[in-house]
Amino acid sequence: MNQNVLSQLGFISLVVFSVFQFESAAGQQQRNFDDIEIVPHRVAGNIYYLEGSGGNIGLSIGEDGVIMIDDQFAQLTEKIVSAIRELSGQEIRFLINTHIHGDHTGGNENFGAMGVMILAQDRVRLRLSEGLRGGQAAPYPEVALPVLTYSDAVTLNINGEEVHAFSVPPAHTDGDSFVHFRTSDVLHLGDVFRTTGFPFIDVSNGGTVQGTLEALEIAIRLAGPSTTIIPGHGGLSTRDDVTEFRDMILTVTERVSRLISQNRTLDQVFSAGVTADFENKWGNPERFLTGLYQDLASSGN
Ligand SMILES: [Zn+2]
Repeated sequence: MNQNVLSQLGFISLVVFSVFQFESAAGQQQRNFDDIEIVPHRVAGNIYYLEGSGGNIGLSIGEDGVIMIDDQFAQLTEKIVSAIRELSGQEIRFLINTHIHGDHTGGNENFGAMGVMILAQDRVRLRLSEGLRGGQAAPYPEVALPVLTYSDAVTLNINGEEVHAFSVPPAHTDGDSFVHFRTSDVLHLGDVFRTTGFPFIDVSNGGTVQGTLEALEIAIRLAGPSTTIIPGHGGLSTRDDVTEFRDMILTVTERVSRLISQNRTLDQVFSAGVTADFENKWGNPERFLTGLYQDLASSGN
């Protein structure tokens, strides 16, 4: 009896705590997300992507249902669902997470609760269930975790489309997937490729520069000249854009490696101008150089 009362009290305080947390988080985020519009873009065939706040959401739509690639932030779920409803009245059936970050998985809890099956590489489930490192992210609840995970690849045959999601070497994180819509010749590269800035190598969550170069090489080999590339962030791109991004990373990596072999500190790398010729296009290199330095210095390059 006592046990029961105690556990009920425990339960009540948990509920109160989570409601409080939810409200304060929602209140805080209302300011940030109220003005965000979800803008659909046609890619090719039945493939679309949604632009909003956070990672680009890839969509395959058709009479068999909707497949989503990534889901941005929880506060945007309602708007995202409305935007999908404008394109298709069919059920949202599958959601593939390209990687762990909150701007790509923040809606997982909502979509999981709606009964959408979430898929991802094995380590995405592991890291989300433990809480991401290098930040303050709490572990995701069970309903928000990928249900179907793979170490190598999974193929969904839906809407007359072969949707091939496959694991790549540890690049942006150690759970990155690319998604290839084979029939429509569209590749979603998650955050391994972005057009809005230098790459982010999330070393705390297993990202590596070597894996980034290898993963981009995989994309370059897989893509043809007319393949449409959806980046994690930014507008539709081509194989040439990915090649240019890869070449830039290779050049900067060689420059930083040389400085590390001369025992230069990170501050010295910052002031050495290793990204000067690329900053017009890709902006502020601080986060990239920090990750790169951390990765190269620790691997003894
Ligand atoms: Zn990311």
